Amino acid sequence: MSLYVILMGVQGAGKGLQAKRIEERFGIPQVSTGDLFRAMRARTDQLARKVQDIMASGQLVDDDTTNAIVADRLAQADAWNGVILDGYPRNEIQAAFLEAHLREKGARINAVLLLELNLYAAFKRAFGRVSASDGASYNYYFNADGVDFSWKPHEDNAFPPRLDASLAATGEALLRRPDDASADAIIQRIDTFLETTQPLIRYFEAQEILRKIDADQSIDLVWADIKRALSAV
Ligand code: AMP
Repeated sequence: MSLYVILMGVQGAGKGLQAKRIEERFGIPQVSTGDLFRAMRARTDQLARKVQDIMASGQLVDDDTTNAIVADRLAQADAWNGVILDGYPRNEIQAAFLEAHLREKGARINAVLLLELNLYAAFKRAFGRVSASDGASYNYYFNADGVDFSWKPHEDNAFPPRLDASLAATGEALLRRPDDASADAIIQRIDTFLETTQPLIRYFEAQEILRKIDADQSIDLVWADIKRALSAV
């Protein structure tokens, strides 16, 4: 049996971590359209250049291009039994395309998991996030054990001050993504999420395939809820 799962949730809801667990448990790959488009940076053909320009401007890639790229990815052997979709579909046109595409293969969207997180927590998860070279993630507000954090004013006193972080044990400096360091960029991402997902949430709710998961819990508890939701499909 195939398993097509759509993961939805505001940035910081933990989609990436949970997608890894679904991948391992169910043997289906995560397909992120953002990652597919970023991978095109290495290419110089016309389509790749067009996508790069669109992404740099912060706009969405057009639906035909996006749908074609997803269809292409779903045709690859590792995706024959299903995928976890992240960042796609972003609107009803893409959702309808996906449904029709899966129907042709005798498959369907089995579940849409909406990882729900209040937006204040979402803001803090992004704004306070730093990561180590081994991929481990820490957070100024939620997960600061073993990390020395300090706010450092800029020389010209520009606001906000920089958040410096290093591992207490080794002194390794931890990195903060530039788009996480900007409160305005985080707020814009949250706004875009709200605008684009509300119609889709209603769309999938009407089909009774939307499952709401409380993402304001530990990673293990969120995972337990996801397993329960997926075992019921
Ligand atoms: P993400 O990593 O999901 O935030 O995606 C990064 C960028 O890729 C977005 O800002 C869009 O330009 C593009 N993108 C990703 N997924 C889609 C999609 N489903 N439809 C249109 N554009 C997308």
